[in-house]
Amino acid sequence: MSILIKDVYFDGKSTNIYINDNNIAEISEKAGNKADKVIDARGKAVLPGLVNMHTHAAMSLLRGYADDLPLNQWLEEKIWPTEAKLKPKHIESGTAFACLEMIKSGTTCFLDMYWHPEANAKATSKSGLRSVLNAVIIGTNKSVEDCRRETKKNLSALREYECETLKPSLGPHAIYTVTKEQLEWINSFSEEQNLLVHMHLSETDQEVKDCVKDHGSRPAEYLQNIGFLSDNKVFAHCVHLNKKEAGLLGKSGCKAVHCPTSNMKLAVGGTFPYSMLRSKEITCSLGTDGCSSNNNLDMFEEMKFASLLQKFSSNNPTVLPAREAIQMATSAGAESLGFNAGRVEEGKLADLILVDLKELSKIPLHSLDSNIVYSANGSVVTHSIVNGELLMEDRKVEGEEKTIEKFNKAVEDIFQT
Ligand SMILES: [Zn+2]
Repeated sequence: MSILIKDVYFDGKSTNIYINDNNIAEISEKAGNKADKVIDARGKAVLPGLVNMHTHAAMSLLRGYADDLPLNQWLEEKIWPTEAKLKPKHIESGTAFACLEMIKSGTTCFLDMYWHPEANAKATSKSGLRSVLNAVIIGTNKSVEDCRRETKKNLSALREYECETLKPSLGPHAIYTVTKEQLEWINSFSEEQNLLVHMHLSETDQEVKDCVKDHGSRPAEYLQNIGFLSDNKVFAHCVHLNKKEAGLLGKSGCKAVHCPTSNMKLAVGGTFPYSMLRSKEITCSLGTDGCSSNNNLDMFEEMKFASLLQKFSSNNPTVLPAREAIQMATSAGAESLGFNAGRVEEGKLADLILVDLKELSKIPLHSLDSNIVYSANGSVVTHSIVNGELLMEDRKVEGEEKTIEKFNKAVEDIFQT
């Protein structure tokens, strides 16, 4: 399969992009005379597909169900009891719907942690999105043996769907929901199996206080002490970190994910220390978190909120400029996941989106970066290509009506029982 994106706005001028199989073969005015599919991209700009680095996709089922509550009450009284009722068929419908929402708002790749991995993987693989998925590992009351058995079972469920676009990983929930012995085993297993590890870290001040009380050290120091910090770790939130902890994460090659909307909505009492983490050369990417703490999966909004929150909290309008916010949402994410994507460059994987330049938020075009980050939202995306496959054309995604119908049925089923 080959695709020619014709007369597209890129790097300040009009050009052609020729996609052969799953990669960007050529970018030039003369590129690709013959292609299986030609997209007339006049009036459109090309961008690398957005990479959502922290989601719980099927939480789309819980959007708007519980808002405006303190984090613990929100989790313990609303989210966890409802999640306990979720069956694989619900997860499958919820993930399929989340994937549709992601495609429609320009995300081409995501890192997910949730329950029922087989259902999650089934829906994700059908969507065509690129993903790294893991089953949540949680439960301080479980033995290491239980954790081992469950993790291996979940991993083989994900492996059934493993392919070029879908990679399994491990998802220990957090240091306060997984024991030291479990974390030690997860770490050695991840190294043995060459798997990425995706975990929440230092989301709230309470987590830090409890860690100091229980382990005599702050979260990143505790992880360092048990040998958990290495370059296959991706930590979401990373709000309450001090300089020493940032140094430890940087030295060990860990990656950090900023989730500004979720952090603001749940009022986690601090701000992702972007400048400090960058000064330690930590790769910082962006994530929406689940739909019940955001409440959407729109990475355009996430770029804007990230940039605004960083400027506001540091009282410095030059922090996290538009170009950097786009890099966080594209190349930094792809790099953290080990995919050769995230840039519009020859030889890169063909994960690309087109945005409508005639749409009002794109006019005038003094700066495309500025319009993308500060003015647009996901509805400006017209086309989505993942791994050389066209997933959305002129905002139409194949089978979307059916996905929405199934999703509505799942919501009815969960909340009426
Ligand atoms: Zn999360």
